[in-house]
Amino acid sequence: FLQGKTAVVTGSNSGIGLGIAVELAKAGADLVLNSFTDTDDDHALAAKLASDHGITARYLQADMSKAQDCRALIEKAGACDILVNNVGIQHVAPITDFPAEKWDAIIAINLSSAFHTTAVALPMMQSAGWGRIINIASAHGLTASPFKSAYVAAKHGIVGLTKVTALETAREPITCNAICPGYVLTPIVEKQIPDQMKTHGMSREDVIAKVMLQRQPSGDFATVEQMGGTAVFLCSAAADQITGTTISVDGGWTAL
Ligand code: NAD
Repeated sequence: FLQGKTAVVTGSNSGIGLGIAVELAKAGADLVLNSFTDTDDDHALAAKLASDHGITARYLQADMSKAQDCRALIEKAGACDILVNNVGIQHVAPITDFPAEKWDAIIAINLSSAFHTTAVALPMMQSAGWGRIINIASAHGLTASPFKSAYVAAKHGIVGLTKVTALETAREPITCNAICPGYVLTPIVEKQIPDQMKTHGMSREDVIAKVMLQRQPSGDFATVEQMGGTAVFLCSAAADQITGTTISVDGGWTAL
């Protein structure tokens, strides 16, 4: 049902962004994939998605820590009916040791990038007469954990931006919502495991079960396919009146 719509997914050459891109492609959307790299593999990934799903798919390099790159990404896409602000990075350290440049990078990539892409995409959606903005927040957009100051601040910020975007478009056939994943086993999480093993003096299995999934009552990781399915639902007519809210896909994390 998304034939003829173009979806731009930021940070989509791996993990949740790629999972969302695949599910949108299955529903017929054309794709613009993105990351900060510009390799043959990046372009081959777009070509593969295009041939697997009978859609058009392009890969556009943009460093989402830079305002100009964020804006240029949407301009180069040329059309943006569905905007998925997915890009995100993590750094784990107590506030007193948290490097200032990591704080700045996380705020730029996880929060400000969505402001810049939204600012350019909204006029395109307004002239097309339809639009969907899906911000990938986190359970950390609604709750906090120690040692993740920049990430938690940025994710709470993107939930706020989601509400403002929804209010500014409320009278139009445009919606803006945030998906709040719990733990999903993607590279961003994989990279945290060695640090957590060191911090807690635990094995990999214990870090997964006792630290990471301890907050997730289901005891299971959520999957990138589930994030994609939720994004497709938000693009459906059933979600026309869902705007300015969060959908948690977190195995019960935020119910605790
Ligand atoms: P990931 O590391 O697998 O993917 C991040 C993507 O962003 C990659 O494609 C990477 O190349 C790209 N990227 C990183 N820096 C970039 C930059 N400066 N410019 C352009 N692209 C850049 O991570 P993921 O787990 O798939 O995370 C995706 C989103 O989901 C993030 O916003 C993350 O905070 C959020 N999230 C993830 C989890 C989880 O458990 N994995 C939970 C909650 C929220």
